[in-house]
Amino acid sequence: MATLALVEEKTMLTLPGDAVRQIQWRFSDRFDLQMLVQSARGVARGTVARMVAAGERNTHDWTPAKNEMMEAFDRAGITAAFMEPEEGGFISGPKNLALSLAAFELAWVDGGAATSSLAGFLALAPIHERGTAEQIARYKSLSAPPQPGEDRKPWRGAFVLTEPIPYVGVDTGMLSGKMRIAEWKDGEEPMLQVDKRGRFITNIAFANFVTAAAISDDPRIKGSCVIILEETDEGIFDHGTPTKKLVHQLSSTGDPIFNLKVPASRIVGGYTVKDGVIIPNYNHGEVIEAVFKRTRVAVGLMTSAKLLSAVEPVIRYQRERFRGAEGAKPGSLRYEQGIQQREDALHRVVEVWATGEAGTALGFATARLFDTLEPIEKQKTALLKESGIQGGRAEMKALKESEHRAIELLSLSADDPRRAELEADFLVQFVLMDAETNVICPATKLWNTGHGANILREAVSLMGGYGITEDCPGFLANKWMDAQLEATYEGPEAVQRRQLTVTMTSEVFLAQFRAWTLDMRRIASQRPGTGACTLASAMNLWLWTLNYLQKTTDPSGAKLYHGQRQGVTFPLADALCWLIASRYQILDVLELEAKGPFDPVAAEGLEGTLQFLSDLCHVQAASAAGEVSRICAELVFGYNCHPSWDEEEHRSCFLASELDEYEETMPGISAMALDVLASDGTHPQKAGPCAGCAGSAEFLRLQNKLTTCLSGSRLAKDRAAETVSKVMIPEALDYPV
Ligand SMILES: Cc1cc2nc3c(=O)[nH]c(=O)nc-3n(C[C@H](O)[C@H](O)[C@H](O)COP(=O)(O)OP(=O)(O)OC[C@H]3O[C@@H](n4cnc5c(N)ncnc54)[C@H](O)[C@@H]3O)c2cc1C
Repeated sequence: MATLALVEEKTMLTLPGDAVRQIQWRFSDRFDLQMLVQSARGVARGTVARMVAAGERNTHDWTPAKNEMMEAFDRAGITAAFMEPEEGGFISGPKNLALSLAAFELAWVDGGAATSSLAGFLALAPIHERGTAEQIARYKSLSAPPQPGEDRKPWRGAFVLTEPIPYVGVDTGMLSGKMRIAEWKDGEEPMLQVDKRGRFITNIAFANFVTAAAISDDPRIKGSCVIILEETDEGIFDHGTPTKKLVHQLSSTGDPIFNLKVPASRIVGGYTVKDGVIIPNYNHGEVIEAVFKRTRVAVGLMTSAKLLSAVEPVIRYQRERFRGAEGAKPGSLRYEQGIQQREDALHRVVEVWATGEAGTALGFATARLFDTLEPIEKQKTALLKESGIQGGRAEMKALKESEHRAIELLSLSADDPRRAELEADFLVQFVLMDAETNVICPATKLWNTGHGANILREAVSLMGGYGITEDCPGFLANKWMDAQLEATYEGPEAVQRRQLTVTMTSEVFLAQFRAWTLDMRRIASQRPGTGACTLASAMNLWLWTLNYLQKTTDPSGAKLYHGQRQGVTFPLADALCWLIASRYQILDVLELEAKGPFDPVAAEGLEGTLQFLSDLCHVQAASAAGEVSRICAELVFGYNCHPSWDEEEHRSCFLASELDEYEETMPGISAMALDVLASDGTHPQKAGPCAGCAGSAEFLRLQNKLTTCLSGSRLAKDRAAETVSKVMIPEALDYPV
């Protein structure tokens, strides 16, 4: 293991390469994933980059070149990455990390290209998550690319939830898409008439099938479902006109219209019939929840990929900025370093880079956790089913006991003999992982995309005027604009914040959060340079604030922490995202420190890389601390009325004449008194006597501590900036612009 003494002396010489990333993102032992990354990168930096450079983004239409891109995905194995080997794929088992890695590589060059690949998976996801065995076999096999010697085109799918009126989105129970029974002959499969209009549907120009959300318009069908519609079904399958998007133009989006007669067997997950009524096994909400849980992670990672992709072009631009000018002769500082002579330029690159690292760490951690959770979740469902429990309240009740055990586990010391028993309990494992994913998935989608979009603007601005031209290396302006769509689709920011508002207050999650805080202190004691201590102090402040807000009311007596009170709950959710992104960033660096020395490629220059990545952690932890401190202070104090200078509220103020008297027995008291009223009743020029609130002393103590915990963070930033000014980069970007 690299020692800190060594770490402090070394400087990172080159950009972190694949060997380092494979360790950080935990796929150094997965050859299948490494191959997928390489082939996705080939398509991204080849086919896709050439398309963007050639102006393919300048049309809304689905062009032959865009179609060729889909075929390139097929050839590169990206399409097949969703399938099991028996369905035509090459990766067995859960694929959240695999799909995220592929999306990351594509988004490194173009977000629309990444979306095109993801949208096909999104169409299949309802079937994969909740479909019957027949549905899974049929649609995944049809969608797999042809095997060598096979003469067929793979089916393409689209996911159709959003509707034109009343704009049904991911979070709403309102659905306008209707289904009725068209025909139901005795002993035969019922035929349904599905009438659905979609809005902003990705992949629709060429979709052969869609998975659409629809609700019953017939007393003989209960509730809602997701249903599969095929292009050749009887009726209308109108792909609609292309949406005039300002972003992601390499993906197809449009407003389709469907009016089709389909067998009831197309209901995703099947149905039962009771008293002559068709009851879908899963309503549309249940299917969609299962789908979005996982697919949102890759979207979050897309924005982070773009942030990291911006580093190299920005550094190159800064260094070459003055070359060719009269006064910048080769060898001169101006020629060699260009804008990098200036501290601010370097510090801003550090911020872009640190944000990219944190988002990526968070996103890949989420993807990995979903991979681990998947088999455990299946086991849990099977076990509960054996006991006659299937979803809903009954399941929640059954898991309550496991939640208590999980919380107990988190409170045990490392050498407690009960640990082994609780750790081996897979229901305990399930509730722990479930509580964590329920927070870190919406956090990835919300923070990586929303905050990422803001920081992408910074990256664009670092390129000056060039940044907002089509010629900008790395297509940064496209990436910035595209990030806004990533923040919007699959549920805009409010949807993620709303989910966090609920999941971040679960007892299991909060117990985990407390354990994480202690863990950060432990890490800090061994590796103070990571900012882990700063982070732990910020975590404490956040937890204190949540607790305070949950128990406190505003001056009118209304609860502060309440689902409807988004002014309280949403900022607190935002603050949490900063903290957890920073946590996973630190954990990735620790992983590299532990495993890097055993990998011959990663081991080269490892100390310098570790130093730099630790400095980025410290910088990010300080930014997170600042955000948390600001948000929490506003929430704790902002809901108190400020005292005024009126008779009632200035009673606690000193009068100037009183102070003169006290001064005789307590010399110096005048200097301490803040709110002093003159004999004519005039007061200092400010809103009123200084405000305090119940518990404010404890808040201020924690906040004070947090402020002093920022010690060293700017030194880390200076050190990281120094590295940015020296790190070697290739002569030219490895994709065309
Ligand atoms: C290019 C593109 C591709 C898309 N692809 C697909 C697809 O393939 N399939 C599909 O089904 N859909 C797709 N969509 C639709 C997409 O999922 C929705 O546009 C997105 O979920 C946002 O919903 P909305 O447009 O109705 O925005 P709205 O829900 O109207 O949101 C507008 C604003 O209001 C806020 N807001 C919304 N609800 C609340 C609330 N409860 N509390 C507080 N604030 C709130 C939002 O945060 C946002 O800031 C796509 C959209 C685009 C633009």
